[in-house]
Amino acid sequence: MKTSLIIHPEELSHAWIDRMAEAGITVLGIHPKGGRRAPIYVREMMEMMKEREFRALIDYAHSRGLEVEYELHAASYLLPRELFAEKREFFRMNEQGERTPDLNFCVSNGEALELFANRAAELAEALYGTGKNFYFWLDDVKDSACRCPKCKGLSPSDQQLIAVNAMSRAVKKRVAGAKMAYLAYADSVTPPEKVKADKGVFLEYAPMEKYKVGAESLALFEAENISPLLAFFGKSDAKVLEYWYDNSMFSGWEKPPKRFEPNAVQIASDVRFYREKGFEYISSFACFLGEDYEKLYGEADISPFAKCVKE
Ligand SMILES: [Zn+2]
Repeated sequence: MKTSLIIHPEELSHAWIDRMAEAGITVLGIHPKGGRRAPIYVREMMEMMKEREFRALIDYAHSRGLEVEYELHAASYLLPRELFAEKREFFRMNEQGERTPDLNFCVSNGEALELFANRAAELAEALYGTGKNFYFWLDDVKDSACRCPKCKGLSPSDQQLIAVNAMSRAVKKRVAGAKMAYLAYADSVTPPEKVKADKGVFLEYAPMEKYKVGAESLALFEAENISPLLAFFGKSDAKVLEYWYDNSMFSGWEKPPKRFEPNAVQIASDVRFYREKGFEYISSFACFLGEDYEKLYGEADISPFAKCVKE
C-alpha cells in the first residue's frame, strides 16, 4: 500500500526523511501553506526549490527509498491575479454578478482554461524530484465557484473537474504517465454530475469536514460521500488525505506549534475503514511537526500510522 505524510517545505529535514523511511512510509509529501496567501507560498517554494540545500534533501529522500510528491492550492498561482485588469472575463463571477479575481476562475472561458492548464504543465516540470502524481488544487475556500451564465449550471465539483481534466491533458504532454488529483472536500465532496473524469484523473478524498461535525456523525457523513465518489472515479489510485497528524490544524495554523498526541485508536479504525472501502493510497498531513516542534516537545510519534498501514 502506498502511504504518505505531508509536511511544509520549510519543515523538510534529514530527521523527517529518516523518520518516514524507517517507519516504512513510501512517499514524502511536500505542501506549501494554503489560504488566501497560497500563491505567495507557492512562489516561495519554487524559490526554495532552486536552492542546493533543498534539492539535496529531496535527493536524500530518494536515496532512502521515498518517492516525493507536491500537493498545493495552485489556482491563484496558475491563473495570475494580475491579469484581472486586462482579462476580467477570465475570472469568476460571484453571487452578486460581479467578476472578481479573489478566488479560482471561470472554467467556461476557453482561453483562461488553456492558460491555466499550460501553466500547470510548466509547474509540473519545475517540481524538483517529483513523482508522477500531481496535486494542483483549486482555491481553499467555500463558495468560490464561478456563477457566470455559462458556469451557473455547473456544481463546484463539475467546475473543479473541468479544470483538473484540462491540467491532466496538458501535464501528460510534458510528463509521460502523469496523473492528476481531483480533491474531494468542502464544496466538491459530492461527485461531479455533468463532467466525466479523463483517464489519469484520480480521487483524492480529504475528510476535513469530519473534524467539524464530530466523530458521531462521521460514519454517516463518510458513507454518504465516499461510495458515490469511488463509484465515479474508480478505486484505482484512489487516495485519502487525512488530518491525523495535521498539527497545523490542531495549532489553529499559528506558530508556535502546540503539543501533539496522535489519536492511535482513531487512526487504526479510520485506516481499516478506508481499506475496506478500497482506497489504495492513505496519507495524512503532518505539518507543524518540524525542527521547531522537536525543540519544544521532542520528536513526533508516527508509529500509530506506520503500524496500521504496514499490517
Ligand atoms: Zn464562468
